[in-house]
Amino acid sequence: MIYYCSNCWNEIPKGIEVCPHCGANQSALEQESFIQKLIRALKHPEPSTPVRAAEILGSLRAKEALPYLVELSKTSSDPFLVKAVARSIKEIEDKDYTN
Ligand SMILES: [Zn+2]
Repeated sequence: MIYYCSNCWNEIPKGIEVCPHCGANQSALEQESFIQKLIRALKHPEPSTPVRAAEILGSLRAKEALPYLVELSKTSSDPFLVKAVARSIKEIEDKDYTN
């Protein structure tokens, strides 16, 4: 099993407290909410991970993720990710009109 830092997504040794790459405290990151972790996953270097994160954020209607998704849709050069992000944004924003 390979472990990754929840901040910079570099590989880290199992059970390490502080990431040797970026200095992030792993147990502090553990306390983050599921949505915060998903927002963080939007920056994951493995291309399928941000796509998945965007889909989940969309299905959760995670409003706090909107600024990050909008930013990503402007900066990403990955057409699959841009599409997933656009869908997610639409899904989150749709909530305002349903009730
Ligand atoms: Zn790190």
